[in-house]
Amino acid sequence: SPKPQRAILGGLNDAQRRAVTSDAATVAILAGPGSGKTHTLTARVVWLVDHVGFRPEDVIVATFTVKAAREMKERIGKALGSGRENRIILGTFHSIARRYLAAYGRHIGLSQKFGIAVDADSREIIGRICKRLQSGIDPYAARAWISKKKAKGTEAASSNAAAQKAAKVPGLQHLDQCYREYQDHLERSNLLDYDDLLLRCAELLRKFPSCVSNVQAVLIDEYQDTNGVQYELMKLFAQRHRRITIVGDPDQSIYGWRSAEIRNLWRLLREFPDTDEVSLEENYRSSQSILDLSLLVIQQDKKRYQKALKPIHNKGSRPVLRKLKSASAEADWVVSEIKRVMMMSGSMLTHNDVAILLRTAALSRHIESSLGKAGIAYRMVGGHKFYEREEIKILLDYLRVIHQPENNDALARIINFPQRGIGKITVERLLEEAETSSLSVWAVLWKHCRGDRTAKTKLTKPAEQKLSVSLLRPLDDIRKQIGEASGPNGTPFGLVQMIEQLLATLDFQKQLQKEHPDDYEQRWANVQEFISLAADFVREMDRSDEDALPEIEGLQQTKEVEVLPRFLATVSLASDAQTGDDSHDNKPLVTISTIHAAKGLEWPVVFVPAVYNGSIPHVRAEDSDEERRLLYVAMTRAQSLLYLSYPVFGPNGNGERNELSPFVEPVSGSFLKKGPCFDRPVLGEIARILQRKLPPEDSIFKTLPAMFSPEDNLFPVDPEESRQDVKGGFSRGEFQSGENTSRIKRPRLH
Ligand code: ATP
Ligand code: MG
Repeated sequence: SPKPQRAILGGLNDAQRRAVTSDAATVAILAGPGSGKTHTLTARVVWLVDHVGFRPEDVIVATFTVKAAREMKERIGKALGSGRENRIILGTFHSIARRYLAAYGRHIGLSQKFGIAVDADSREIIGRICKRLQSGIDPYAARAWISKKKAKGTEAASSNAAAQKAAKVPGLQHLDQCYREYQDHLERSNLLDYDDLLLRCAELLRKFPSCVSNVQAVLIDEYQDTNGVQYELMKLFAQRHRRITIVGDPDQSIYGWRSAEIRNLWRLLREFPDTDEVSLEENYRSSQSILDLSLLVIQQDKKRYQKALKPIHNKGSRPVLRKLKSASAEADWVVSEIKRVMMMSGSMLTHNDVAILLRTAALSRHIESSLGKAGIAYRMVGGHKFYEREEIKILLDYLRVIHQPENNDALARIINFPQRGIGKITVERLLEEAETSSLSVWAVLWKHCRGDRTAKTKLTKPAEQKLSVSLLRPLDDIRKQIGEASGPNGTPFGLVQMIEQLLATLDFQKQLQKEHPDDYEQRWANVQEFISLAADFVREMDRSDEDALPEIEGLQQTKEVEVLPRFLATVSLASDAQTGDDSHDNKPLVTISTIHAAKGLEWPVVFVPAVYNGSIPHVRAEDSDEERRLLYVAMTRAQSLLYLSYPVFGPNGNGERNELSPFVEPVSGSFLKKGPCFDRPVLGEIARILQRKLPPEDSIFKTLPAMFSPEDNLFPVDPEESRQDVKGGFSRGEFQSGENTSRIKRPRLH
């Protein structure tokens, strides 16, 4: 029975409501940051299921990050109830594509047991090929070139303009050959890289449209950052009913370097001429001064598509711009401001409310060390990851080999952990032998262990012995047990049991101790954490039917019953440095993130350090407008307090001076630049943040007085300025009158 409309539509403004309830097949919401695009998209999903009556499993929702997918699912779940959100096909493009391939891949000749090559794998493989070809090509450049070529998808393959242009690039034959060999390698190892997931899925849906014959509606968030293949996929998903809702903001297009194409927006409007275009013009996220300044930055771009965006909050305190002596002084300043804001807010704001957004992950070193010194815990998004820790990678590689013995790369990485006396050169020879014969490294090793002397690569007797006892046989053994009831009380041999048996067989703890005597305890703790993650995953999987696709008549579907491949896929997709999220911690933590990975998110307090020329725009960036948009994205993440800063001297101490970013320079007059700035505005701001977090019936005045003591010296010297700042700090309506301003000024605060 459909829910009363009010429950779904409550709290939406008119434009949002129009977008949610639009009868048009195609709806496009183009609007600025914080205008509620994601909010509206979520409500439309609920509307389509609850009011229009589509089955949840007939709706596909693509988000840009793993984290966004999780948040959206949670919100839809609250509105729909009874776990129906789990049936929606919701995730990143990559994870949705993987689901289709797991279910139907064999129709296009894909082996059921395909694995995923993450970015690091791809780079490693390409690095090896580049070396062998002696081409002198930088593996990073080759990887980027290959990925671009793939991401353009079918369209670019037939465009000879691109081919002509490429022909002029020196080393092109090498690149092409590198591409071919890389692709061969993936195929032989039965791996798909990130681009392949999308490409193969598109191939599947083109050849077997019935896979998506059930799909009623396709909804896409952060549409401005879709690339050519994703555009294709979107259309393929929606091929039956052409019912598409997209939301996006051209000003926030920041993935051009990953082949995202803003023109997909205009292409959509052209190809779907009946699209209902809705614009949202109110910014619910940021204070007026934060929004004004952000708009000043983006408006320097004269070619942009103009949209209106008005704040609904009041002025708030002016964003801060600080020049510090060095990167470490800058980091110390950031940390001292965090401590100050925390202190002043009492326990109402937590470290969860603070984000430090960086142009590149490499900038985090000083920040991390200052936070460390101050004892402030933090999480890193888009930087060094849990899954990239050495001990975790080894375990994952073991699991990969259990899943896919033909995964030569994973096998090569674990062949000598624990030490089995196999040198680097031998490993290379083994890989070489596998490349040139039709055998996998795994098969070659088995030959040795069986005493078959036809293998070309020679191994020593002790090495053969060790391989047999601690690698080949135990892994085969584990593989055979999967799904069997081999536990003590006939419990099934599951993922956790598998990992535990692996650890025991390898004597993992001892090995860690041997190899890393200094910090093995931390490493072992990480391993424990990994086990508990695996346990969580299994529990989660039992609860929801997440990866299943709806049955389609006349089409055979492979049911993914095994937990291992699903676990590995989830880890692979979560470890994408830009769009993944491997946070698995519920403690309040300060977030350190790249700006790219912060897309779509918001925090009350945001720091953007290193706003100097060379960092943003980045020295190596090709598109300066994209760099400006990146700064715009960073600034518009902030709700109430925004701090920009830069160090005058470069990180190398070579006396080179940094200049303020040219994007900030022209508007730097609007920032608060000097003085013990924070006493005044911070008070009002914190009040406003707190007010937003409280239920509406709870006035901020109930909690405020207890939080400040007279010693905090919250009051400014200049009474005129103070009145404005404090007043500006409060949320609209309730605290706006002059009477309230004076009320908060003294008597209320102690
Ligand atoms: P971005 O471009 O950065 O992704 P967005 O347009 O997707 O931003 P949302 O994240 O959906 O914006 O919304 C920004 C904030 O405003 C969120 O906290 C959201 O809950 C809130 N919000 C959106 N619409 C409303 C509304 N009608 N009433 C109250 N709050 C709203
Ligand atoms: Mg959004």
